[in-house]
Amino acid sequence: MKLRRAPVITMALIIVIALAAPLLPIADAIHMDVAHRMAPPSWPHPLGLDELGRDELARILWGGRASLVVAFTASLIAGLCGTIIGVMGGFLRGIVEQLLLRGVDVVLCFPPLLLALLVVTLLGPGTRTLILVLSVLFVPGFARVAYAGTLTVRTLSFVEAVQSLGASPLRIMIRTISPNIAGPVLVQFSLTAASAIVLESGLSFLGLRVVPPTPSWGLAIGAARATMGQAPLLLLWPSLALTVTILAMNALCDALRDAFEPHAASRSVARHLHEALLPPRAIPASDRLLEIRDLTIAIETPSGGTALPVRALSLSIDPGETLAIVGESGSGKTLTGLSILGLLPDAARIASGALSFQGSDLRRLDEAGWRHLRGGDVAMVFQDPMSSLNPLHRVGAQLAEAMTAHRRASAREVGERAVALLQQVGIPDAARRATAFPHEMSGGMRQRAMIAMAIANNPRLIVADEPTASLDVTIQAQVLDLLAALKQRSNLALIFISHSLPVVAEIADRVAVMYAGEIVEEGPAPLVFATPRHPYTTALLASTPREQGKPPPAIGGVVPPPDDMTQGCRFAARCPHCLDPCSTRPARLIEVAAGWRSRCWRWAET
Ligand code: SF4
Repeated sequence: MKLRRAPVITMALIIVIALAAPLLPIADAIHMDVAHRMAPPSWPHPLGLDELGRDELARILWGGRASLVVAFTASLIAGLCGTIIGVMGGFLRGIVEQLLLRGVDVVLCFPPLLLALLVVTLLGPGTRTLILVLSVLFVPGFARVAYAGTLTVRTLSFVEAVQSLGASPLRIMIRTISPNIAGPVLVQFSLTAASAIVLESGLSFLGLRVVPPTPSWGLAIGAARATMGQAPLLLLWPSLALTVTILAMNALCDALRDAFEPHAASRSVARHLHEALLPPRAIPASDRLLEIRDLTIAIETPSGGTALPVRALSLSIDPGETLAIVGESGSGKTLTGLSILGLLPDAARIASGALSFQGSDLRRLDEAGWRHLRGGDVAMVFQDPMSSLNPLHRVGAQLAEAMTAHRRASAREVGERAVALLQQVGIPDAARRATAFPHEMSGGMRQRAMIAMAIANNPRLIVADEPTASLDVTIQAQVLDLLAALKQRSNLALIFISHSLPVVAEIADRVAVMYAGEIVEEGPAPLVFATPRHPYTTALLASTPREQGKPPPAIGGVVPPPDDMTQGCRFAARCPHCLDPCSTRPARLIEVAAGWRSRCWRWAET
C-alpha cells in the first residue's frame, strides 16, 4: 500500500503542533487581560486577545488538542459501528437487514437535541458525554454509506466468485466487501470529523462541550459569534484552523482511499517456489455425480405474479464427463448453473425439484453445507475474469483465500501451492504473477487464474459459465485446451454453459439445448450437432457465425418471457414446422435414441 506523503505530513504536523502546545514559546492560554479585551493583533499577541482578554494564538494551538480528540474519537466510534451495521445489513439482508436498518432509522427519527438531553440527563455533562452523543448521532450516516456501498459491491462478480469458493460470510464481509467500500466510508469520516468540531460548540448550551477554561475550537467559534460585530477576526482564526484541518483530513482520507486501489508496488506473497500440487482426489465409483430432477426456479414479479425462468429441468452428469448447456440469452442456463451451487439471486428460488450431488440432497444443505461444497467438491468459473477477481487483492492472495476457505495451511504452504496452481494452468513466470493485481494481467491470464482458483481444492465438478465469452479466438482455444487437459488429468466433470455451438462442439461429450427455461434437446454432442432432432437446435446451428462468407440469418422472433404460461410448444411462434399438435407441448422429452431426447412432436421429420 503506497500512501501519498503530503496529506500524511500535513495532518501529522497539525497533530504534533496540537500535542506540543505546552512546549511552544507562546503566552498562557488561560491568563486574562480584561483591560485589553478583543485587542487587535500585536507583536506579543500575533492573533490578538479574545473576548476575555486571553491570547488567541495560544487558545487556537491549545484548542486543537481538545477539538481533535473529540472529533476523531466520535468519528472513529461512529465509523466503526456504522460500517459494521451497514455491511451486515447490506450483505446478509433479510431479518438482519430489517433489524439493523430499522434501528438506524429510529436513531435518525429521534430529534438530536432530545437525544442529547437524554444522554446528558443519564450521564451528566462533560467531554465523554459529548463524544458519546456525537458518536450516536453520526452512526446512521456511516451505516447508510456502508449499506449503499455493500448493496453495490455484493452484486459484483468477484463477490459471487468468492462465495462460489465457499468463503464464510464473515470472511467475505471483512476481506472482500469492506476494502471495496473504504473510499466512501473514508470520505464520510472526514465530513463527520468536521461536523463534530462544529457541533461541539453547537451543543454547548446543554453542557455538552469541552469544559471552560480549557480551550477548544468549538468554544472559540461559539464565543466569537457573539462578538462578531466588534472583533470579526476572532471568528476568522478558529474557523481557519478548522478549515485547514478539515482540508488536510479530506486529503488524507483521499490518499488512504487511493492507497487501497490496486496500483501499489508489488510485494511478494509467495517466496518459496517448487511444485507442491496436491494429488488428485480419488473419485468414488458412483454412476451419477450430479443429478437434477424436475427443477423449477421461480421469480416473483413486481406485479405479484410468478415467472418461471427454469421449468421442470432434468439433467445428470457422470465423473469425467463434459456436459454443455447451450441456448440464447434468457434460456435459463445460467440460473441452472447457479442453482447447483446454491447461488441463485435473492429474487429467485427453487420452487420444486430435486438436486443431488454424489447422492446427497443439495436442497437439504444449510449455509455451512453450501460453503463446504462451494469451492470444495464443486467450483465455478465465471464469464468475465476481470469482474470476477477482486481488484484490490493480488492474484496469489486470492488463490490463497480459495484454499484457506477449506483447509488450514501455513502461509508458506499456501504461497507455494498458489504458485504451483498458476504454473499448472500455464501462466508463465508464475511466482511473479502471483504478486500481480488482476488489472496487471491479460484477459486470458485472468481467466487462467480463475480456473486455477476453481481447481485449488481438487473439485469433482466445475460449472463454467461462458468462460471464454470475453476472450479472443486464440485465447479461447487455449482456455478450452486447458480445461480439456485438466479434465483428463483428474477425472473432473465439467458443466460448460455457452451460447456458442462451435465452442461447445470442441469440448462437450453431451449437450443439452435449452430454450425458454426448458431443455428441448439432449444427447451425445456429435449426434446432436450432425443431425439435430429439434427445430431450435437446427436454427441455432444455422445461425452460427462462419469465418468466411455472409453472416448467417438470425433466428426470427424472440424467446417468450419467463412469465408466459402458454400451454403449447414454447418454440411454436418461431418454428417453421409448427402444426396443430404443437398447441400442446410434450410434457417430457421424447426418446429419439438411446441417450438422445427431444421435446418436439415432429422430431423425426426435422
Ligand atoms: S413441437 Fe411443433 S412447434 Fe414445437 S418445435 Fe416441434 S414442430 Fe416446432
